[in-house]
Amino acid sequence: MNIVITGAPGSGKGSRTPIIEKMFNIPTISTGNMLRAEVEKGTELGLAAKGIMDSGGLVSDEIIIGMLATRIKESDCRTGFILDGVPRTIVQAEMMKAAGIKIDKLIVVEVPNEVIVARLSGRRVCSACSEPYHVEDKKPIQEGICDKDGGELVTRKDDKPEVIKSRLETYHSETKPIIDFYKDEASVSYIDANRPFGEAEKAVREAFAPKSKEMIK
Ligand code: AMP
Repeated sequence: MNIVITGAPGSGKGSRTPIIEKMFNIPTISTGNMLRAEVEKGTELGLAAKGIMDSGGLVSDEIIIGMLATRIKESDCRTGFILDGVPRTIVQAEMMKAAGIKIDKLIVVEVPNEVIVARLSGRRVCSACSEPYHVEDKKPIQEGICDKDGGELVTRKDDKPEVIKSRLETYHSETKPIIDFYKDEASVSYIDANRPFGEAEKAVREAFAPKSKEMIK
């Protein structure tokens, strides 16, 4: 099961992938997290990507697809994977197709723009494991500290208001067209993520449930 989860930045993709991981026992590959790890390590790739990421731009398609192609060769991806944040452009989707990466399922997480702005400006992430929190909706047990590994919670540089606006524009112009790209190849499901987080699991399960037509058969 090869899955792509897409949606605007801050739509809640990262909060939903652990639910899908457990359902299918497959890993999530987040190109954003991979890039942040490179920045953290100070690698050549990290140095090249940092400025682009901080300003909310997109890292080159070649770098992203090269990184992805290497990652999915690892043994934990044998039975499938969840791609979070990739493909981000039609060119990336085409490069993936050319590399033989077939997608079975596309999940589109939908949230109105104004909700996204409120969410992202209150988002905090663990500096060690990237686990997302929110200053009002998903507080850690101890303020400023990750529940999972005790890492320090920080605001991402690209969660500043002016950068959020530009990232949203990029999502609508560059990334949304991939929904059309996959409509024949993959089964497409939409998740309305403008609901209380407690309903997230139900919404994700519904997205994978057989269509009522198939259930009748
Ligand atoms: P994310 O955590 O998915 O929001 O990604 C953070 C940043 O990493 C993005 O704003 C981009 O600068 C970069 N990035 C992540 N994935 C991609 C991708 N597939 N294509 C281009 N840039 C990406």
